[in-house]
Amino acid sequence: MNQRIAKLRQRLAAEGLDALLVSAPENRRYLSGFTGSAGLLVIPVSGDSLTLATDFRYVEQAGVQAPAFHVQQIAGGWDWAPKLFAELGVHKVGFEAGHLTYDTYQQLVKAVAEGPARDQTSFVPTTSLVEPLRAVKDAEELASLQRAIDISDRALDEVAPTIRPGETEVAVAWRIEQRIRELGAESVSFELIVAAGPNGAMPHHRPSGRPIAAGEPIVMDIGARAGGYCSDLTRTVCVGRPDATYKKVYDTVLAAQLTAIATMRPGMTGKEADALARVVIEQAAHGERFGHGLGHGVGLAIHEQPTVGPRSTTVLEQGMVFTVEPGIYIPGWGGVRIEDVVILQRDGARVLSHARKTDMLPGGRV
Ligand code: ZN
Ligand code: ZN
Repeated sequence: MNQRIAKLRQRLAAEGLDALLVSAPENRRYLSGFTGSAGLLVIPVSGDSLTLATDFRYVEQAGVQAPAFHVQQIAGGWDWAPKLFAELGVHKVGFEAGHLTYDTYQQLVKAVAEGPARDQTSFVPTTSLVEPLRAVKDAEELASLQRAIDISDRALDEVAPTIRPGETEVAVAWRIEQRIRELGAESVSFELIVAAGPNGAMPHHRPSGRPIAAGEPIVMDIGARAGGYCSDLTRTVCVGRPDATYKKVYDTVLAAQLTAIATMRPGMTGKEADALARVVIEQAAHGERFGHGLGHGVGLAIHEQPTVGPRSTTVLEQGMVFTVEPGIYIPGWGGVRIEDVVILQRDGARVLSHARKTDMLPGGRV
């Protein structure tokens, strides 16, 4: 935690901020260790004073989980904030513009206007101060991530061969979710996706009561949460004999994914990494059917930095963890997506997920 705070402070200094008010739950947890659902951090650019303000429900928990922070009990309202800013002598206070609601912001401004340091306090909207730090994972984070990844790998490997024609998408999704829980996850990391046949043409289809038919592609996008960290895994399989389209589309998506994984390097932008896979899909004349980015960072949040997509100027660095998930979606027919989580190392990407893929062949069949 101390290293994380130290790195954040460098960023605050570079921005000319005296302090940052942290309200985003994942950032709060990342910087303090506190896992509760309500609370704010006040992190001054220097000095020993770190404050975690939370309400009665969480005071005891916060004291245990965030020993580096002084826990201040609050009870609704913002009168504590101007007092604390005055005590700390901080004037330019950053807030997280992507998370703090406009209503909360107005209450905060009002409290300060009525408080002891009204003429000296200004609020500065900030974006992406903590998030880039979270993109590069440390050893402790990687251990939790790997646990989450191992659980979803195993759940998928166990459930995929049991799928039978006539079963509904929701039944399969529930079986995977149960298995994820049984294998020790805290929860699933998002609402699991099971999309068979034409439903697979919608990348984020919600599982329905539609029965799965033999021969149609089944996209399963699943994830587990362990130690607060999320896994994200997609496999596409087919029960029974697939059609000719399936084989071609599957092989194209797989080739795109393996090409990107084998050739991406630190120093590339997100856009350049995305292009490694996109060109393979374009060459197969499916370019317009790959309508989303190649991947996204994954950690305390299921979608976080870095963004790996056609508009991403983010430079990919060693230690970043993100998904590689090309897909092809054909309206009326269905879709194929294959997703793994990788960590970028000095000489390229190392794949962290190991659910069966190529050995489901021919054509990803189970
Ligand atoms: Zn996914
Ligand atoms: Zn994903």
